Amino acid sequence: MRAISPEFTGYGWAPSTADIARLAGIDPIEVIRYDGNVAAQPLPSTRPGTIAGELARINTYAHGGYAELLDAIARYNGVGPENVVLGAGADDLILLCARAFAGPGDIVAVADDPTYPLFRIGAWLAGAGVGDDDPAVTFCCRPNNPTGALDPLPDARPLVVDEAYFEYCGETALPLIDDGVVVIRTFSKAFALASARVGYAIADAPTARELNARQAPCPVTSLSAALALAALDSPPDVTPVVVERERLGRALRALGLEPLPSHGNFLFVPVGEPRELFDKLLRQGLAVRPFAAGVRISVLDREDDDVLVEALARVLDRPSPVAAAGGRRVRRLRATAETRIRVRLALDGASRVRVATGAGLYDHFLEQLAFHAGFDLILEGAGDAETGVHHTAEDAALALGDALDAALGDRRGIARYGDAVVPMDDALARAAVDLGGRPAAELKLECDPGLAVHVLSSLAQAARIAIHVESSGRDDHHVAEAAFKAVGRALRVAVKRESEGIPSTKGVL
Ligand code: PMP
Repeated sequence: MRAISPEFTGYGWAPSTADIARLAGIDPIEVIRYDGNVAAQPLPSTRPGTIAGELARINTYAHGGYAELLDAIARYNGVGPENVVLGAGADDLILLCARAFAGPGDIVAVADDPTYPLFRIGAWLAGAGVGDDDPAVTFCCRPNNPTGALDPLPDARPLVVDEAYFEYCGETALPLIDDGVVVIRTFSKAFALASARVGYAIADAPTARELNARQAPCPVTSLSAALALAALDSPPDVTPVVVERERLGRALRALGLEPLPSHGNFLFVPVGEPRELFDKLLRQGLAVRPFAAGVRISVLDREDDDVLVEALARVLDRPSPVAAAGGRRVRRLRATAETRIRVRLALDGASRVRVATGAGLYDHFLEQLAFHAGFDLILEGAGDAETGVHHTAEDAALALGDALDAALGDRRGIARYGDAVVPMDDALARAAVDLGGRPAAELKLECDPGLAVHVLSSLAQAARIAIHVESSGRDDHHVAEAAFKAVGRALRVAVKRESEGIPSTKGVL
């Protein structure tokens, strides 16, 4: 092979989730990654239906490229399609720009240190060196990964500005594309499509034309293009991530750490022994990204971020600034062709519940059930709501049931039986549950808004529990809601830990 800079080292991937799970002795689903700077979960548009049409013609090439996607990207950015260059992620465009602007004998300048390593890798792979002396091109990252800083734009030209985290700060160099600036963006971060590998560059039309000519033919798959197009159709609101970033920052400061101000979806935390901290967290199944002077922590959501804050408190031997999450906790992911549901459940919780699958009334009923059971529950996802809520409501109940079964473990020491009577206006529900391991559902609801009985019996099946309910009244919503609340109240009693023994005269469940 042609020799390149002796300084060259390839991109260093973090350990795989399977490896972390092995190291920590846990199931891979329990591993939490704070090291990828990606969204906590996919957008609702990320569903099999989005790519079904493309799968039906996956045997052919996308002749002529992706005009519709180019138009949508152009509209999103207020430029023309002739300004857009597609790539397999921002990485592909960084490498393309490096080899298009620089070659053997050239110098490539990289603003900021530390910064995203691919600028240097791109320069070396192009045969160029990295330095500041009369550079053929300059790369900068705004906001900068890993620090989160939004430093002033360098005056150098040509200038490639990596705006992978643009959506979290709104600052852009786009107005400068007619002044020797190329902007690189990605669908991997705010649009939550990291594995789809879609990015784009925006440049003045002649530069974009030349970059396109030097790009691989059709560098993005038609499946990824369809996902990106669907994502652009309803761009995400990143406000919750920004709010959570500030909350996480405060929690870290309460631990005595000093995260740097950040304009991205991550926080850089200077620490004395980053590698040691990384190792200790990894052994608990929590992955942060270590650097020479600190660790970088991706912002996920409050529940996952608090798991890290608690772990940091343990590692640093300081009191935790966040409420301790309950024990007997599990994470589950249920993905079918119709729905995608993610569950986090802690049996010994404090009734912190959020159910958001798009199943309307049934989301509300499952929230009531978990709340009255005293669980911490997050159940989120998306389903084929265009066919009605049947699949989504059913799969949400199955996913919750599966999580409940896993959280109960071998069911040793639990009370096993529970019952409750719950009135709700005109309705009165009586429920009794048996967590003995044999699924059964005897459900007599005087009226049903549609799927209440089906949802409760799906829960019983997946959780391997028996649920008996009688609920009467005039209003179908009240009759069903009272039933879910009563089941929740009965579960609260039945899951209680009473002893170390197996709650059966048989000695087994
Ligand atoms: N640029 C920066 C600054 C990044 O942090 C990343 C990913 N970590 C990328 C580019 C690569 O993005 P993509 O997934 O689009 O290749």
